Amino acid sequence: MTQHVVVVGASLAGLRACETLRQEGFDGPLTLVGAENEIPYDRPPLSKKVLSGEWDVDQIRLRKADEFQSIDLQLRLGVRAEALDTGARTLALADGSTLSYDGLIVATGAAPRRLPGQPDLDGVVVLRTLGDSLALRGRLGEGVHVVVIGAGFIGLEVAATARQRGCRVTVLEGLPAPLIRGLGAEMGAAAATVHGRNGVDLRCGVQVAGIEAGADGARVAGVRLADGELVACDVVVVGIGVAPATEWLQGSGLTVRDGIVCDASLQAGVPGVYAAGDCARWPNAVFAGHDDEEMRVEHWTNAAEQGAAAAGNLLAELRGQAPTPFVSVPFFWSDQFDSRIQFIGRAHGGDDVHVFAGELGGKFAALYGWQGRLRGVLGLSMPRMVMPFRALLAEQASWDAALEKAAVLAAGLTAG
Ligand SMILES: Cc1cc2nc3c(=O)[nH]c(=O)nc-3n(C[C@H](O)[C@H](O)[C@H](O)COP(=O)(O)OP(=O)(O)OC[C@H]3O[C@@H](n4cnc5c(N)ncnc54)[C@H](O)[C@@H]3O)c2cc1C
Repeated sequence: MTQHVVVVGASLAGLRACETLRQEGFDGPLTLVGAENEIPYDRPPLSKKVLSGEWDVDQIRLRKADEFQSIDLQLRLGVRAEALDTGARTLALADGSTLSYDGLIVATGAAPRRLPGQPDLDGVVVLRTLGDSLALRGRLGEGVHVVVIGAGFIGLEVAATARQRGCRVTVLEGLPAPLIRGLGAEMGAAAATVHGRNGVDLRCGVQVAGIEAGADGARVAGVRLADGELVACDVVVVGIGVAPATEWLQGSGLTVRDGIVCDASLQAGVPGVYAAGDCARWPNAVFAGHDDEEMRVEHWTNAAEQGAAAAGNLLAELRGQAPTPFVSVPFFWSDQFDSRIQFIGRAHGGDDVHVFAGELGGKFAALYGWQGRLRGVLGLSMPRMVMPFRALLAEQASWDAALEKAAVLAAGLTAG
């Protein structure tokens, strides 16, 4: 019997799912539905080389338009999935059509959060899509004052690129240091020195009261702080994080709790339905026993790996075979000025942090541990100090084992 697989979300995780289905021998009809009217593209360059103008749109396509023929899929771009009926196994699309499926992979990613009461003004932008990046790129230039609200990874990358384009840049962050949620306070403060050195006015511990319009009521005038100060500017980039794009699943019966709640195989609790990428939450056995064992990861490598894993497990289910748990050591990178941050594993507020190579304020590498176990490794422009820990993280190594390995690597660095 011919089975139809539908993948919703035409970006990294969705495309990887389609490619994997074909590579693993699925020869039934395959439909990829995407809300954006774009051939799938890579997002990391949107805050880096596309925003700076060094790269053109063609350089970030995940596949060329004519390469889709080899995957043999029906591409439904520019149309949003609006509702899911898991009992009838149908999807309602925004153009009024309905798709029936035997297997479904949800890879709808995440969308930028907005400030409460955020006004719709010319000059107030977010950054998630290619369109967002090109529009912001058009606004950057010598002397333009850009205020970035939120010192997370994307906010700081935008700040760095805007500085490189000659802008004046102010970053407003409510927490005491940048990147606290991703790296913790101490390492966030270290990363802040990179921005200070490069002329970014990074203001931490400040509360934003709102964004204000100029006299015409249409263009942004600046950002009002809770203490009454107005930070006047030409452009405001709201970079306060993302939320999983799951509103359309309301009433579907899927459990949604900051992401689609999946089991270890990425199955969303309903036969034939899987999730992957920024929208998926699952128990990751690498962190079994940790307080954040059930996780949602918003990084490139995870989206690519989960797209492939969800497809493999959907196929196994359709074929009556056993699924394989998705087990992963998360990894991400971030480029800011001439620094590259790399992080493997997980970090949270309660971690012990130990710098084992280099020094804070310059290039360095640090271990993150919790309750006697290694949780993660950070490198600031120290690529060779990060990846060697992947195996230790995968086998849930102890803090002591990590310290031993770190000492060996650091000694090699000094000798070299
Ligand atoms: C500016 C920027 C820079 C980044 N830099 C880095 C980096 O340096 N390193 C790193 O590790 N990660 C980085 N990331 C994160 C990385 O790009 C994401 O983790 C990755 O794109 C997630 O892929 P995804 O396929 O899960 O979701 P997404 O890429 O978000 O794609 C989801 C797709 O689904 C579509 N969609 C949503 N709802 C619907 C619907 N109802 N119907 C149909 N389609 C729908 C969306 O329009 C979108 O095209 C960056 C992200 C951004 C935005």
